[in-house]
Amino acid sequence: MNLNTIVDVKRPKSFEEIEWRDGHAFLGGGTWLFSEPQVSTDTLVDLERLGWPALTVTPSGLEIAATCKIVELHDFKGPPEWRAVPLFDKCIDCFLMSFKIWNAATVGGNIVMSLPAGAMISLTAALEGVCTLWPQNGTPREVPVVDFVTGMHTNVLQKGELLRQIFLPASALTKRFAMRQVSLTHFGRSAALIVATVEDNDYDFLLTITAATPRPVHIRFRKTPSAKELHQAINERLPPDAWFNDVHGSAAYKRHVTFYLAEQIRAELS
Ligand SMILES: Cc1cc2nc3c(=O)[nH]c(=O)nc-3n(C[C@H](O)[C@H](O)[C@H](O)COP(=O)(O)OP(=O)(O)OC[C@H]3O[C@@H](n4cnc5c(N)ncnc54)[C@H](O)[C@@H]3O)c2cc1C
Repeated sequence: MNLNTIVDVKRPKSFEEIEWRDGHAFLGGGTWLFSEPQVSTDTLVDLERLGWPALTVTPSGLEIAATCKIVELHDFKGPPEWRAVPLFDKCIDCFLMSFKIWNAATVGGNIVMSLPAGAMISLTAALEGVCTLWPQNGTPREVPVVDFVTGMHTNVLQKGELLRQIFLPASALTKRFAMRQVSLTHFGRSAALIVATVEDNDYDFLLTITAATPRPVHIRFRKTPSAKELHQAINERLPPDAWFNDVHGSAAYKRHVTFYLAEQIRAELS
């Protein structure tokens, strides 16, 4: 849609060029920004010309620029020892999206939206991602993805603070994984998107619960748990009022399918 409150679009080539004030909004792919009126925004700050490389492989892991498009992540082929890379496509497929969103939406835009069904949140939280945030007039800071999202459409970003990148450590990318997702309708938003990762010797089993809860939840076990231990841990961590109730599924439904899918994942990885 046309945003008739916008009077200026800035296209900075460096972060230092940005002079932030109220009324500014960072523009990623624009798929959400242009999907509804933005009455309190008069200026878009387009991130594209900052020219960040979309994906950078380093010995310690993968740097995903906030401006990396969903389609670029989809096309990524990692080193063979990064066994969790196929999870990228599996999470991307959970995104309710059109051709336009697939090609325009950015990984950073999805994470900053901080919706429970944000598939890039599920992916990067499950792979122990760490966000680099650039505040206005401050020192860059790092926040794990699992702590970045604080609730439905809320996160730790301060005014004018930019999500620069998400780093996925090689230690998580080399783990085995299993994933399950359900939606109430065939192409609907996720009601639950659950991932677990584990090392070869059954050590460091990490369960990540998303979409069923307002924010991502990690439950970590030293070794792959038994069915009983897993059930008990989810129960203790997430009381009945901790589940997310919306048109895409009631809290009771999401709680029920989470237990069901988490056990499937545990059995698959055992
Ligand atoms: C039909 C349709 C279906 C959708 N389905 C889903 C879905 O299933 N799940 C889901 O989560 N979302 C969904 N969305 C919402 C949205 O399209 C996605 O979340 C998308 O990934 C947002 O990315 P973007 O790059 O287009 O963000 P933009 O629209 O550019 O920006 C989104 C928000 O993030 C801010 N922002 C963007 N980049 C940065 C940055 N680097 N640092 C700080 N702030 C930033 C913007 O200012 C804005 O507030 C859907 C939208 C539509 C229209």
